[in-house]
Amino acid sequence: MAALFSTLPFADKSSFMMMMMTIGVLNGAVSVNNDHNSKNRETADVVSGNGSKPFPWDKIRLPKHVIPVHYDLLLHPNLTTLTFTGFARIEITVNQQTSSVILHSKHLQITRATIQRRMGNSHTEKEVMVLEYPPFEQIALLAAFPLHVGQNYTVSIEYSANLSESFHGFYKSTYRTQEGEVRVLASTQFEPTAARMAFPCFDEPSFKARFSIKIRREPKHLALSNMPIVKSVNVANWLVEDHFDVSVKMSTYLVAFIVSDFKSVSKMTTSGIKISVYTVPDKINQADYALDAAVKLLDFYENYFSIPYPLPKQDLAAIPDFQSGAMENWGLTTYRESSLLYDPEKSSASAKLWITMIIAHELAHQWFGNLVTMEWWNDLWLNEGFAKFMEYVSVSITHPDLKVEDYFLGKCFDAMEVDALNSSHPVSTPVEDPAQIQEMFDDVSYEKGACILNMLRDYLNADVFKAGLVQYLRKYSYQNTKNEDLWNSLAHTCPVGDTQESQLQGDGFCTRNQQTSSSAHWTRREILDVTTMMNTWTLQKGFPLVTVTVKGKNVHLHQEHYMKGSDSSPSTGYLWHVPLTYITSKSDTVQRFLLTTKTDVLILPEEVEWIKFNVGMNGYYIVHYEDDGWDALISLLKENHTAISSNDRASLINNVFQLVSIGKLSISKALDLSLYLKHESQIMPVFQGMNELIPMYKLMEKRDMDDVENQLKGYIVNLFKDLIDKQSWNDEGSVSERMLRSSLLLFACARKYQPCVDKAEEYFMKWKESNGTLRLPNDVKTAVYAVGAQTIEGWDFLFSKYRLPWFNTERNQIEVALSISRNKDKLQWIMDQSLLGDVVKTQDLPHIIVFVAKNPSGYHLAWKFLKENWNKLVQKFELGSPSIAHMVIGVTNQYSTREQLAEVKEFFNSLEEKSSQLRCVQQAVETIEENIRWMDINFEKIKIWLQNNM
Ligand SMILES: [Zn+2]
Repeated sequence: MAALFSTLPFADKSSFMMMMMTIGVLNGAVSVNNDHNSKNRETADVVSGNGSKPFPWDKIRLPKHVIPVHYDLLLHPNLTTLTFTGFARIEITVNQQTSSVILHSKHLQITRATIQRRMGNSHTEKEVMVLEYPPFEQIALLAAFPLHVGQNYTVSIEYSANLSESFHGFYKSTYRTQEGEVRVLASTQFEPTAARMAFPCFDEPSFKARFSIKIRREPKHLALSNMPIVKSVNVANWLVEDHFDVSVKMSTYLVAFIVSDFKSVSKMTTSGIKISVYTVPDKINQADYALDAAVKLLDFYENYFSIPYPLPKQDLAAIPDFQSGAMENWGLTTYRESSLLYDPEKSSASAKLWITMIIAHELAHQWFGNLVTMEWWNDLWLNEGFAKFMEYVSVSITHPDLKVEDYFLGKCFDAMEVDALNSSHPVSTPVEDPAQIQEMFDDVSYEKGACILNMLRDYLNADVFKAGLVQYLRKYSYQNTKNEDLWNSLAHTCPVGDTQESQLQGDGFCTRNQQTSSSAHWTRREILDVTTMMNTWTLQKGFPLVTVTVKGKNVHLHQEHYMKGSDSSPSTGYLWHVPLTYITSKSDTVQRFLLTTKTDVLILPEEVEWIKFNVGMNGYYIVHYEDDGWDALISLLKENHTAISSNDRASLINNVFQLVSIGKLSISKALDLSLYLKHESQIMPVFQGMNELIPMYKLMEKRDMDDVENQLKGYIVNLFKDLIDKQSWNDEGSVSERMLRSSLLLFACARKYQPCVDKAEEYFMKWKESNGTLRLPNDVKTAVYAVGAQTIEGWDFLFSKYRLPWFNTERNQIEVALSISRNKDKLQWIMDQSLLGDVVKTQDLPHIIVFVAKNPSGYHLAWKFLKENWNKLVQKFELGSPSIAHMVIGVTNQYSTREQLAEVKEFFNSLEEKSSQLRCVQQAVETIEENIRWMDINFEKIKIWLQNNM
């Protein structure tokens, strides 16, 4: 799955200028409570409620004594009554004698079930009793005869259900045609635990089986599934039955089907795979970019992994109602419309980047996740960390103009933000129930997973890393894996073409020699024990802070667990194997040093003026420079900032503010460093600067602190004034120049920087006079709309355009503008509308609420809205989902008073345990506590610093 809320390419805890890009926000996840299988037999007995028959299984995980081999599914959705009927015939193998078959089922009305035994040519079929245990979403088929080991049986189940009104299971989606007609379609979203809402199944990723799917539909519709159609049969005049080819062996969460009136465009890859993009008919002219990108990317992956894509086709479908960014169903990937459809005339530069990366993500999953799948959801990162990481590997080669590699470090900043809290969790974490599984879809699995893989690649070198991956994918094709399977594959691979310096030892470790001339090598003889090293990154939460003290030629190193929080007495027992890299004033060649102990010393060949660790931010750690280390770097930035790369500059900005949070540096030191930004023009350092500075005044906006708040706003505008003035109001330049322009102009206009406001007002007026027909440059639209929406009249005009189909590519930009209005009635109205889901799609509700929460006029309303509609929101978006986490954290993370903290705690404590114990709730509470502490320590200092520096 591709997350929606932690995306391109900037960390954002609050800066509203980047909201438009649905940027990284703290995602949620949960403290894991292993007690769920302690729900005992007594509970099961009582709840099954089927006379005297007890439910024969008492664990949330399915027993392993029955294994599915093949599913025959027949589904018949009725898009008028919004119901469906189903018939599932599942061939099973028995491993251990039993008289019951336990499998998953949720909200399905089962009308008949049988078990069939085959003996030679004859078979006996017996109807069986079905018990249901809803708390575990399980059913039990009770056989009248014992099921014997080694024998095959066929379980048949007839059932019916309603199409889901949420975004998971087999669910209803609607769209409006250009003529205003509302049309219905039905689509699926099964990951992680919703296949059981569409058909009874063994709904755990390790129960892989083959699927033969048949779908009945009206002749005016078409049906899609993982495999191509082999034949279509007319069952009646008004009913067609499509038979799809039998699938490869795969997990239930990857099954998919759609019944719709979509249109498509298609192309072939070099190896003859048919790629098609499906959309609602009116948007088919926005499908070409995705089609070309998918062809290029599938070709790339087949080549990179040296494993052919095993299906004959890959369909990419844009679904009008979609909760996350996209889903990797094998052969039928599904997307939110804004994650797939691109209009060359109207879409923004960031949309192009986002769409390319999402497609790259879902296609990477066809290997990582689909072909080789994690054994259980505790290792979700094996799917998601990889897919996230592969986005950068693939797109940097297939679409070099996008320069995606420049943005990678933003992922690590996002991950560190949540990973610095006590409520974080190790990458690999035990989970059991559906809400806990949902909570794994967070920044730790995705972003941290990707960052530690990138660090490992940098450590091993790209060729060794790739060779290990290919070995892993080959060895475990159509199977399931755990963490250690990956590390073993990587550890057993040696650098390609590097045989003199490295050799595979008997124990499977590669060694390298220190006498090599290549700078890519380590400074001392080391055994590359990948498993031991990577366990330090995946089995413990958080990340290290490395403190560097330079004494002459000696560099003293010290590592500790970086953790925010008032009671941050240094946590002991945490130790990482940190592959350090550094450059110095004397050498820009990257040097390396593996730190495996708490303290160590490295010796430089000569004394240096400055040293910069974590080159390019390829490592997942932050660095503190003791004594005058920071002063030397700050002078370097002020005098000659281009002496180090833009990513190194961005990482210094990030690290210096991180160190303020834990009291290692004073805020004035960090602000001193920020002064250099006056001369900065590259996207990542500019964004990182804004990401650090803007949240400070966002906290003040929610309190009565006008004087300092306004001074700080003035300081930031002044810092970027030259760069803002240089921006042209058109769409010229590279993608990164265009994204920079778009964000800077929105920031400037929102901060009421007059030259920007004047120009935006003029554009808005002309656009309004043309009744919305005038073509505005795409990169300035959000700024223009945002300024226009400040008057009631402008807001209403903008909303009247929002409703029209030909503004659909701009819907997100218009939503940003509508939700930064100062008019409280308008803000309330737009939130209410998004819950109704008629003119504003409910899929957009989470970010609309969060936009409103960032607005000084709206934060009270957003919090009230969240509280009052909690039950509805959970029903729609699912407990534990990234959408719920996005709202909980996004609405509360700019609170910094004790009253606000008490209010938030009180509300969540009043909810039932499953809600109050969500990890996102813990993160929200911890974040507010951190904000309170931060303001107590830093507010007066900021005030004084601003007085001295304005
Ligand atoms: Zn994914």
